[in-house]
Amino acid sequence: MHLLIVEDETKTAAYLRRGLQENGFRVDVAANGIDGLHRALEGAHDLIVLDVMLPHLDGWHVLQELRAAERTTPVLLLTARDGVDDRVKGLEGGADDYLVKPFAFSELLARIRVVLRRAQPQSEPVVTVADLVLDVLTRRAMRQEARIDLTAREFALLWLLMRHAGEVLSRTLISEKVWDMNFDGDSNVVEVAIRRLRRKVDAPFDAPLIHTVRGMGYVLEAR
Ligand code: CA
Repeated sequence: MHLLIVEDETKTAAYLRRGLQENGFRVDVAANGIDGLHRALEGAHDLIVLDVMLPHLDGWHVLQELRAAERTTPVLLLTARDGVDDRVKGLEGGADDYLVKPFAFSELLARIRVVLRRAQPQSEPVVTVADLVLDVLTRRAMRQEARIDLTAREFALLWLLMRHAGEVLSRTLISEKVWDMNFDGDSNVVEVAIRRLRRKVDAPFDAPLIHTVRGMGYVLEAR
């Protein structure tokens, strides 16, 4: 999942970015309303965390412009004020939820997950390939009734492979989707991560699901 944070307070933005990345999200940050609106209009994000008090163009106007351009990306507003008027204004203006500053990170995370879930009722919260089951909401993997504990990064990697089961995914694509960056040719970050994932998902079981396709990448499938 790819998030956009529009927040001018650099400390808050850095803290949110780090926390959300640790929870497996890809995160872009915009530091003012105009930049935020441009990024939001690209339509590449699954959700936007939008601060109301922003330089150049405030959050209300960003939201207004976004909805006027018929972009339906879910928006979670961060407001410093707790006035009923602001809440009504935000929700009527097309925000999907709002959070009053200061807030606990755990609450933001919970709200983001609720909004994302609501925005994608058609997306299957449980992905199954052969005897491997991944629950996107609880972020747990099970294979043959055995629970597999995954780090946030391993979860993101396994989720990507399972959503594209049967398709060969290149190292470049994997590094873009899971790490939000391109690693240079010498980097073996993806290989190392795949090796660790195999130790958990494949090694304890009879039939491996993660396969290397020489010169091309990796594919997850039952063979
Ligand atoms: Ca602000």
